[in-house]
Amino acid sequence: MAILDGKGVAAQLREELRQEIALHAVRPPRLDVILVGEEVASSIYVKGKVAACLEVGIEAHVHRHTSEVSQRELLDEIADLNENPFVDGILVQLPLPKGIDERLVTWAVDPAKDVDGFHPMNRGKLLLGEERALFPCTPLAVSELFARYAISTQGKHVVIVGRSDVVGKPLAVLLLQKGMRGNATVTVAHSFTEDLASLSVQADILVAALGRPRFITAPMVKEGAVVIDVGINALVAGQEGERRKIVGDVDYVEVAKKCSWITPVPGGVGPMTIAMLLSNTWKAYRSHL
Ligand code: NDP
Repeated sequence: MAILDGKGVAAQLREELRQEIALHAVRPPRLDVILVGEEVASSIYVKGKVAACLEVGIEAHVHRHTSEVSQRELLDEIADLNENPFVDGILVQLPLPKGIDERLVTWAVDPAKDVDGFHPMNRGKLLLGEERALFPCTPLAVSELFARYAISTQGKHVVIVGRSDVVGKPLAVLLLQKGMRGNATVTVAHSFTEDLASLSVQADILVAALGRPRFITAPMVKEGAVVIDVGINALVAGQEGERRKIVGDVDYVEVAKKCSWITPVPGGVGPMTIAMLLSNTWKAYRSHL
């Protein structure tokens, strides 16, 4: 078993981006983040994104709102950012508080500035295999890891557990595309899938994106498979007798003994996702100049 070192590859990607931006940008690219409410996890994620931006030379502006902010105020703010020629990327940190329509708000972002790739225009372009678009960061992160480790998806059976609009579905589409980074045969499983283990054990590449701690166990994995663990689950103190820690959707210790490649959690897909956000912001910047 070998480790797919997302943390290391993400650092390399950031360094490449830093050099490219320093060399080619006529002004610093700019990402604006809208953060609503007091959720600790969201604040931590935004802090990480801002720090990564600064490292590569992207200006980051955070627009903080209490959970009392109205949907109208958010839509007006997004309209202003859409109009602002110095803003390259706009990201609405999810989840939004109850009462605010996440679709309405994220779909209000100009597709050319939609660095999360959530706008229907970008989702449609993803489906059509149109390269000049912005795609969701986590699927891009997985695809980039394969590319960096020269793991070919061509002709491989990829089983993705999870069909969310953020991870499972767009990743399935990416890997299904014609081309070097695609050409896979993709199976997508979800909570209604019957006998999941009989499917997962057939996977050359198994992607766990279901949000259930250590759900994928060794008997569910084929000998020599590539295993990508997208899950981020916080075990609370005392749960399973452990101190508070972050674990993935894969039973890492047992599965690692059986597979050829595996992503750790933390240090796998997570840091790559942030790196792809930077990459999308740079792509958005280049597309508006
Ligand atoms: P969602 O909750 O939106 O989707 C989970 C998916 O898993 C659903 O499609 C659900 O099925 C499916 N599922 C749930 N339980 C089972 C089960 N027992 N068997 C089969 N399928 C099941 O989660 P996300 O896609 O947003 O996130 C998934 C995980 O990835 C989470 O842990 C999240 O924290 C993490 N994540 C990590 C990122 C990173 O950067 N590393 C980025 C984004 C997310 P159904 O549709 O039928 O309900």
